[in-house]
Amino acid sequence: MPVPSMIAIDGPAASGKSTLGFRLAEALGYLYFDTGLMYRAVTWLAIHHQVSISAEAEVTRLAEDVPIEVTAPSQADGRVCDVIVEGRDITWEIRQPQIDANVSAVSAYPGVRQALTRQQRRIGLRGRVVMVGRDIGTVVLPDADLKIYLDASAEERARRRHDENLQRGMPSDYQEVLAKVIDRDRIDTTRAVAPLSAAADAVILDSDRLTADEVFQKARDLCQP
Ligand code: C5P
Repeated sequence: MPVPSMIAIDGPAASGKSTLGFRLAEALGYLYFDTGLMYRAVTWLAIHHQVSISAEAEVTRLAEDVPIEVTAPSQADGRVCDVIVEGRDITWEIRQPQIDANVSAVSAYPGVRQALTRQQRRIGLRGRVVMVGRDIGTVVLPDADLKIYLDASAEERARRRHDENLQRGMPSDYQEVLAKVIDRDRIDTTRAVAPLSAAADAVILDSDRLTADEVFQKARDLCQP
């Protein structure tokens, strides 16, 4: 078996997908592409343009019309890429709680998904890529050479998010974070189009029982020819 070229990593919020995807891409010399940031950028656009999140047609138009540029990091401030829309660097703005609270609603719109999936597929099909999201193995790249589904309990994921918030100096309440994680899971797994689920041929890794290093090692082993 050759080294997999198209690698899909899916899983729920805060399961450690981004950390794993980034490390794996770095180890293989591949492009790391986080699809969640595109849904976040559309959510940012809607809020910035004062478009109601419930205005499906208008939100969809933003996803179709406004290019989202994802480029190499211009600053060493912890970012793994720059996210630029309409000439503005929104890399950190899309990580704000207001975006977290609205992104699942935006990503449930079929037209938004269609517009973003098209762009993601174009990037993924070039190969030598680790693409991270919710529907990469099932919808965006169903022919990926390796599919990993990274799972963890809601409690463990909320604990990680809570710790991250505190480390960034943001106020954080564990019970509130847990409620939000559960709510995002509910929306992401029950939406009509491309719900979060493991592909039938995905390797499932449970990060409750494994450290980040162990998860990485297992994924790395799956990439051996
Ligand atoms: O991964 P991240 O938490 O940044 O993703 C933000 C949101 O974008 C998810 O909660 C989900 O609603 C949506 N998303 C998606 N499909 C993807 C990636 C993200 O629906 N492939």
